[in-house]
Amino acid sequence: MTATTYSEVWDLDVFFKGGSDSPELQEHLIQTEDLIQNFEAKVNNWTPINSLEDANYLQELLADLEVAAKKLFQAGAFVGCLLAQNTEDKKAYSLDAKITSLGAGFQTALGSLDNLFTSIDDVVWQQLVTAEPLKELAFVLTESREKAKEKLSKEEEALISALEVDGYHSWGQLYDLIVSKIKVSFNENGEEKQLSVGQASNKFSSSDRDVRSAVFKNWEKAWGEQKDFLAKTLNHLSGFRLNVYKKRGWEDVLKEALSINRMEKETLETMWAVISENKQKLVQYLERKAKLLGLEKMSWFDLDAPYGNTESKVSYQEGAEFIEQNFALFGEKMAAFTKNAFEEQWIEAEDRTGKAPGGFCTGLPESKQSRIFMTYSGTPSNVSTLAHELGHAFHSFAMRDVPFLNCNYAMNVAETASTFAEMIVADAAVKNAKDEEEKLVLLDDKIQRTVALLMNIHARFLFETRFYEERKLGTVSVEKLNELMLEAQKEAYCGALEEYHPLFWASKLHFFITGVPFYNFPYTFGYLFSLGIYAKALEEGKGYEEKYMALLRDTASMTVENLAEKHLQVDLTQKDFWEKAVHICLDDIDEFLELTNDKY
Ligand SMILES: [Zn+2]
Repeated sequence: MTATTYSEVWDLDVFFKGGSDSPELQEHLIQTEDLIQNFEAKVNNWTPINSLEDANYLQELLADLEVAAKKLFQAGAFVGCLLAQNTEDKKAYSLDAKITSLGAGFQTALGSLDNLFTSIDDVVWQQLVTAEPLKELAFVLTESREKAKEKLSKEEEALISALEVDGYHSWGQLYDLIVSKIKVSFNENGEEKQLSVGQASNKFSSSDRDVRSAVFKNWEKAWGEQKDFLAKTLNHLSGFRLNVYKKRGWEDVLKEALSINRMEKETLETMWAVISENKQKLVQYLERKAKLLGLEKMSWFDLDAPYGNTESKVSYQEGAEFIEQNFALFGEKMAAFTKNAFEEQWIEAEDRTGKAPGGFCTGLPESKQSRIFMTYSGTPSNVSTLAHELGHAFHSFAMRDVPFLNCNYAMNVAETASTFAEMIVADAAVKNAKDEEEKLVLLDDKIQRTVALLMNIHARFLFETRFYEERKLGTVSVEKLNELMLEAQKEAYCGALEEYHPLFWASKLHFFITGVPFYNFPYTFGYLFSLGIYAKALEEGKGYEEKYMALLRDTASMTVENLAEKHLQVDLTQKDFWEKAVHICLDDIDEFLELTNDKY
């Protein structure tokens, strides 16, 4: 298709020459610090006069904010790339610390600004944000103001933030510390090994059931040994959170999480209702998979077991061209954008030592470019990751001219473009599979993800909401935690499993994250939301691209209900949209069931 061979190493010099030794970067950081200090001073010098004339000063402030924020993010993204490409880059670590402290100062100034918003009365505020030039930012500015209003006084909130360091976030850190000490014993070729939690959990995707079941036994044992400490940690962390909510007068434990994700509770309830109504097909898949694995019933530790084995390898160049070709079937802009990203070396994919694990996409807003980081070793899942990260980069590309304040999208829509891009490539891979066995491996991989998002995450959601209600009444014992988890898992998996994982409340990091509350449903929302858009794209064909990009541009400046209403003409509080999205997942299962009908 193309004569160029793509580089597997990214170009960072185009931003700042010389990596962590760059004099240009030093200069940039000095400028950033000045800009932040000036912004902070301007915020502190402002006393709103509570009239339309406030618009002038506010507009000036917001212009300064935009410039400072872009500078800060530009530096942060660049240094993030340096750290990822070489984990031994000591100078990059100190640059990173510098940027973190600049960011903290900036956050404080932003908090003060939000507080000043509350001193403007409702009528004046409405007039301010519905007129030019602030009209475009009406949603985010009003959102900041509302959030500030719903909190306690500035002094009380400052006290809470100070107490959080030792009384809240520290519990999350204690969890990490306990987990880092846990060893799961595992017998490999007659030798008794002590695996870290991460190493042990990788064994759950082994194709050998004896391995999976042996690891699981020791896994439960290892977590069980720490259960008292972990239950105490979870009880205090949630107790702190509930006390703060109570002081602020927040009744519903989901209030904060829903507001972060800019969504209504009704939407969430409708989504789960539709998922629950459609679980029977997922149960059929689990039953079939059990038969294919020669089992009576699946257990918790069988859920990641692969179907069959294929050793197919795809070179980077082949993977890149496959992605380009299939993006082109969807739209010209996405294809051209992708080609450009490969040609201009936006991607670091080389398989070499010294790189950080994992993958990410980061935006450099001053340059209107992104950089993608991953390690490409030629597996089919590497191709998906590459497509996924390109989807993120395309999201930023679609938003490149949107004001910075309107670019801060929430977690539930953050994965819209990435999932979309991944779906295009995953579907093409299934279609182009060289034989039936390969097709089944790819389908099974897709379905496993569906099971994780519609069943596993559902169990987490059921457990966590019930646990918080229980916690309001007092400390929750280990026995009760196990009971709540077991009940949630049985319900979420419709009783389709033989053996469950009652200590999942201990082994799942997400319940202990203090930065984001209820780190579960946004995953499922994002997946189905993206699939719903994908369904629409399939219906409308190539012409859909412009509409898709218009939707992406609006992802951070309205509620998800308004976003869906405006761009998809659907009501997220009603079932139709969710049903369509779930059916895309169920179609994969139908195909899987048909192809495996005679295989057991
Ligand atoms: Zn992602």
